[in-house]
Amino acid sequence: MTKGKITAILSNLLQVEVDGPIRQNEICYVLKAGEELMAEVIKINGNIAFAQLFEAGSGLKAGDPVRFSGELLEVSLGPGLLSKNFDGLQNDLEAMPGSFIQAGQRTPALDLDEEYEFTPLVEPGAVLEAGDAFGEVPENALKHAIMLPFKFEGKWEIIEIAPAGTYPLKHIVAKVKNDKGESRELSMVQKWPVKWPIKNYLRKERPAEIFRTGLRVIDSLNPIAEGGTAYIPGAFGTGKTVLQQAIAKNNRAEVVILVACGERANEVVEIFHSFPELEDLATGRKLKDKTTIVCNTSNMPVAAREASVYVGMTMAEYYRSMGHKVLLLADSTSRWAQALREMSNRMEELPGTDAFPVELPAVIANFYGRAGKVEMRNGTKGSVTFLGTVSPAGGNFKEPVTESTSKVARCFYALSQKRADAKRYPAIDPLQSYSRYLDYEEFQAFAAKNIESDWIEKVNRAKNLLSKGIEARDQISILGDDSVPLDYHRDFWKSELIDFAFIQQDSFDDTDMNSSLERQSFMLNRVLDICDKPQEFEDFSAVSAFYKKVINLFKQMNYSDFESDDFQKFNTELEALFNLQSTEA
Ligand code: ADP
Ligand code: MG
Repeated sequence: MTKGKITAILSNLLQVEVDGPIRQNEICYVLKAGEELMAEVIKINGNIAFAQLFEAGSGLKAGDPVRFSGELLEVSLGPGLLSKNFDGLQNDLEAMPGSFIQAGQRTPALDLDEEYEFTPLVEPGAVLEAGDAFGEVPENALKHAIMLPFKFEGKWEIIEIAPAGTYPLKHIVAKVKNDKGESRELSMVQKWPVKWPIKNYLRKERPAEIFRTGLRVIDSLNPIAEGGTAYIPGAFGTGKTVLQQAIAKNNRAEVVILVACGERANEVVEIFHSFPELEDLATGRKLKDKTTIVCNTSNMPVAAREASVYVGMTMAEYYRSMGHKVLLLADSTSRWAQALREMSNRMEELPGTDAFPVELPAVIANFYGRAGKVEMRNGTKGSVTFLGTVSPAGGNFKEPVTESTSKVARCFYALSQKRADAKRYPAIDPLQSYSRYLDYEEFQAFAAKNIESDWIEKVNRAKNLLSKGIEARDQISILGDDSVPLDYHRDFWKSELIDFAFIQQDSFDDTDMNSSLERQSFMLNRVLDICDKPQEFEDFSAVSAFYKKVINLFKQMNYSDFESDDFQKFNTELEALFNLQSTEA
């Protein structure tokens, strides 16, 4: 193995002189007071390596010895990842004394002595390729496939396989050989380098189905597809974290991986405490059963932030390979980009815009490119749907991280400072935001079949009413209430109705927080019915008085269970007010 010694230290960037071959992204260890501190090679220049230290490195000095591992930064993949809280290097935070890791301290991601009920899926003689399942274990409510490791090249024949039974993770459950006469023993755990996509699938599909978030402003107005990508930029305090957590609670994914990257530690501790108690609305089980949290908070070393997003993505791809629907959330990708910037500046590389590394757009594009819906060799399909938040300094969406992300993410949920200031939550601007999936024919067909035949036209009508309302509001504020035709007031109040009754949603109310597609369609139809209904008014104050009454009824409906007695009662009141034909709820 190659060895080296430190020649210079700049905060957590080490310059190391090496005595043999090393590779890009190879992991190395620095010996300090009996502890091994982990670092990753991020640049090689002849016999000089630049390595980013993942842990606090105070006390290191020039001349300290470094040991190169020959391995890349890898994660352990196997049953037991769900329900766990990891740090950016996949240390199990609960197995650790104290909540946060000490330098040199590591805890294994998976407990290799933990027992699982193994069921073989193939017999001796079966020929497998990387990613093919040969066994299965239950993990919480999930079927966890035990697959031929992704690193295995070519075809491998099963020589022996364990009978159904309960075994610890480290138990050898299968023996395989290839046509070169090499043989291998397989446990239920494999390893994979986090920066390489797991690509054992046959093909990627064009996203065609709505990934339900339960949020009306997303699902109805700018939906994200299953296997799709979205980014959520917003200034500090506009609601990025609350929004991602709402999506983490509402969705119908089978696996949720939540990466808290560089955010405040108290927010993360809050998730650790609140998540175990919450119920998964899709299954009625505990939300924690299907959720893994990877966190690298602002008080942990900056380099591990980069690792944390890759660790999250790799675990997401792993579960996708089994044919599961996975949701990956990262809050915030800007903190990761800032970590890249710090390293790049310390290496005195030629900087790009705002001192971010020139390869930032490529790094972001490659990361988003790992999401998607895929088909496996055996015909099963899995998906990774990815939503990342971006925290642009001062809310300026022209900064490099937001710009680079806009080129690759297919959905854009712009958090507006104005809406946040007015407490119009979620503060997603419905008109500035977009979903490119709405342009896909497959996606339109899905909405037509699963929601309503003319759903997209209805959504467009709502968007038109919203923009008409903004124009009317501007005219009213320039010319004054009395100096504009009543129609302006009506247009303005129609857009307020759409905003208050449909777009705004209370993430802290058990009922309103999650709206089914069926309910969303009912409510949007109701709102549009009312907007379409001609109404005569005496003067502008009559317009506002009327719409305020309507908005109030709608809000009460939103707080009532769908189709409950209360819901029907408010619906009937609405109908009386507008003399609408009754629509069955
Ligand atoms: P960010 O992550 O963008 O800095 P947060 O998600 O932490 O912002 O939100 C800041 C505050 O705004 C929250 O603590 C909460 O009081 C309020 N808020 C954000 N979103 C909502 C929401 N959907 N409903 C109600 N309040 C919200
Ligand atoms: Mg936040």
